[in-house]
Amino acid sequence: MFEGLKALPQDPILSLMLKYQQDDNPAKLDLGIGVYKDELGNTPIMQAVHTAEQQLLQSETTKSYIAPAGSPLYNQRIRELVFGADHPVLRDNRVASAQTPGGCGALRMAAEFIRGCSTSSSVWVSTPTWANHIPLLGGAGLPLKEYPYYDYENKSIQFQAMLDTLEQAVAGDFVLLHGCCHNPSGADLNREQWLAVAELCARKGLIPFVDMAYQGLGSGLDEDAFGVRMLAEKMPEMLIATSCSKNFGLYRERTGTLFIVGANGEQAANAGSQLFSKIRSHYSMPPSHGAAIVETILGDQPLNQMWQTELQGMRQRILGLRESLVRHIAASEIDGDFSFIEQQFGMFSFLGITPQQVELLRTRYSIYMIDSSRMNVAGLNAQRMDYFVAALADVLKSS
Ligand code: PLP
Repeated sequence: MFEGLKALPQDPILSLMLKYQQDDNPAKLDLGIGVYKDELGNTPIMQAVHTAEQQLLQSETTKSYIAPAGSPLYNQRIRELVFGADHPVLRDNRVASAQTPGGCGALRMAAEFIRGCSTSSSVWVSTPTWANHIPLLGGAGLPLKEYPYYDYENKSIQFQAMLDTLEQAVAGDFVLLHGCCHNPSGADLNREQWLAVAELCARKGLIPFVDMAYQGLGSGLDEDAFGVRMLAEKMPEMLIATSCSKNFGLYRERTGTLFIVGANGEQAANAGSQLFSKIRSHYSMPPSHGAAIVETILGDQPLNQMWQTELQGMRQRILGLRESLVRHIAASEIDGDFSFIEQQFGMFSFLGITPQQVELLRTRYSIYMIDSSRMNVAGLNAQRMDYFVAALADVLKSS
């Protein structure tokens, strides 16, 4: 049976990570993999997480099964983080949610849920979007369609083209939007644009489906949730997938949430029961440890404060790196305007160089990023800025 199987090519990001690990150049720089890094290039455990884990070690009394939806307290606290504690959809009980194995688990279960609701609904995704959206959603059998999003030429959102294309969507289609810190471009909708998307979805009967994997890493915990909160107020139905991988640094603990907003309490509860049944038939129930950490942090005022301060430090570091990179490039021999990097949010931006130049950065300077030139800004640091900009100047000359 298995002898005819062919080896599949490795995931490009994971194979890049492997090449980086095998590179013995002490000057190497990893701007590829999408994890936050500190000034020393490490991805440390946050102090608030560490403290919560110590508390859990003392207080946990069982490892017995939980439910397909995960911990009720986790669900309650993460809802308040995402929507804000006094959001009308929470007051009106219009939200069903499930703790999931990471944001990926939330996205896949959203796809399974959509498939269960309708076999004819398409999901519209931005061009470009996070590469894993395609297998996560398409793998559940959902038809995917694309709307233009990032204009590589002008380094900004092609907003009119996005709206024009979404006019072709039909009632019951889902529109996947990045809540903040668009991956891979870093180009986020402004408030006016979010409102225009809400108007279009309401007028055409489209259902917003927001992936928010970076809450708190763009402009702030509340600021980054503007789109989600506004849509939840205006729209009868929507889906939201969130992740605690980045903002709590819980990558390998696989902690995320899928929210379903229904038109009223009863519809939300019915939709939730459908979701829980899908979960039961896929992985039965989510892993517990990461969610227990988040639940502990969000439920304890001093720990919550500690976490928010750490998150703010991460956010400010990224903003500072963006500003410093633009300044260093402007002061170098490099021609061209890179100020767009300062106007974008989160960990990623396209540097806007060719795949050949990306390869030269890797082979000559051991600087790693994916071929599209999406770079993880958090992989830079103050000591290496001159090295990076000099390398960039060199490869730009050899186009
Ligand atoms: N959505 C986007 C846009 C992401 O970039 C990521 C991770 O990189 C995720 C979702 C899911 O992350 P995880 O499954 O690690 O929580």
